[in-house]
Amino acid sequence: MGQTNQFGDMPVDDFRRYGYEIVDRLAEYFERIEGFPVLSQVEPDSVKSALPAAAPEHGESFDAVLDDVDDIILPAVTHWNHPNFHGLFSTSTSSVGVFAEMFAAAFDMKAMLWRTAPASTELEDVVLDWLRQMTGLPEVFEGVIYDTASVSTMHAIAAARERADPSSRKLGLSGRKDAPQMRVYVSEHVHSSIDKSVITLGLGLESLRKIATNDRFEMIAEKLEEAIAEDVVAGFLPICVIPTIGTTSTTSIDPVAEVADICEKHRIWMHVDAAYAGSAAILPELQPLFDGWERADSIVMNPHKWFFTPFDLSVLYCRDLDDLKKAFSLVPEYLKTDDAAVKNGMDYGIQLGRRFRSLKLWFVMRYFGREGLIGRIREHCRLARLFASWVSESSDWELAAPVPFALVCFRAKAADVDSANALNEEIMRRINSSGKAYISHTKLNGLITLRISVGSIRVEERHIEKVWRLLNEDLAAARGD
Ligand code: PLP
Repeated sequence: MGQTNQFGDMPVDDFRRYGYEIVDRLAEYFERIEGFPVLSQVEPDSVKSALPAAAPEHGESFDAVLDDVDDIILPAVTHWNHPNFHGLFSTSTSSVGVFAEMFAAAFDMKAMLWRTAPASTELEDVVLDWLRQMTGLPEVFEGVIYDTASVSTMHAIAAARERADPSSRKLGLSGRKDAPQMRVYVSEHVHSSIDKSVITLGLGLESLRKIATNDRFEMIAEKLEEAIAEDVVAGFLPICVIPTIGTTSTTSIDPVAEVADICEKHRIWMHVDAAYAGSAAILPELQPLFDGWERADSIVMNPHKWFFTPFDLSVLYCRDLDDLKKAFSLVPEYLKTDDAAVKNGMDYGIQLGRRFRSLKLWFVMRYFGREGLIGRIREHCRLARLFASWVSESSDWELAAPVPFALVCFRAKAADVDSANALNEEIMRRINSSGKAYISHTKLNGLITLRISVGSIRVEERHIEKVWRLLNEDLAAARGD
């Protein structure tokens, strides 16, 4: 293997040679991305069965490792970067995001204390302030980076719990006769990560009260008000309301300003889930859709969803970051420092070490600029509206929800619910197994509904035309035309 130090790392010359080779391979990957099936076509266990049961006893040639990336790993990759990945939320990395991950891995800083990672700690504050300005949030908001929205929201609810019952940190909730039964309010269309948060935080699923939605899938504010009033009389402690801007199924928008009025009246924490749609707040013409979020106690948005930043990077903005600190700061002796005025990342969550995630957001913001980011997100919204117009104009298809951002919910028409569900499932099965595009579904009012998300940095109008053509071909084939 040509190592100079038997117990050291790969020699620098080899690192350089392999590094160039890997960048060449990745450049080729991006160039060839449209030639891959969007959804991996392998069967379960394909990767496991191709690999030995135990790690190698002796180090192997790195060429052999790279060969296995081609032969074993690549066929089992579902290509989120493919411009025809329209399922779930379409998210993709940019090339500069890949570069940032290389630097972050090379520096390998753990941002627990400022001292252990000054660049990461300070860059995080800078990029989150840039993002705050771009999205039009007031100066009072300060942010912290976590991995996912699931984790950001769990921290927000923990901070809300701390504020509502400051003894919960010390005494916990288990076995306490005096512990209040807490309530968290969300709409029926809330993301499942919030159910998981209340499980994790010991509040229990029964603490989550799901408020009915209207025919646009938006939380009905009057129902929220009624639920809170009823709970207060029954002795519950309302701690948090979580309206969503851009729900997962349909990207519907809860009435955040009305929810803010209710939260202010009852002194309840308002956390806004803008995990998907938050990025779109940089478009001046979409700002009205975010009305009221500036009154939140906390907001989550995910640059790893729709800001061309590789997974993972989620941002939690708080009106007062000290709320998080009160819930989570705990400094063991070995981490005490005399750096009085610095921010230590470990104080704002359950993690001690934290990855250098801000670097990739910084690269993305600098490379594309505000104008470039606006242009891309605006184009995605245009493509989604274009697709929606084809659906509305067709007699075979119907729109199933409004299209405020870049997701279209629609379905093929059929005589009754059962045949519509069977038909749409069959269309989806055909498209996804073809490898030519990936779409996903949801269920709205008992009807299987197809979803096309437009969000890849590589997507162009021809990709949207392609998926429309495939849908119509598969509709004809499924009907046996
Ligand atoms: N909130 C909303 C509205 C989402 O759509 C999603 C995921 O799609 C999440 C939260 C969870 O995101 P993450 O995967 O970052 O935890």
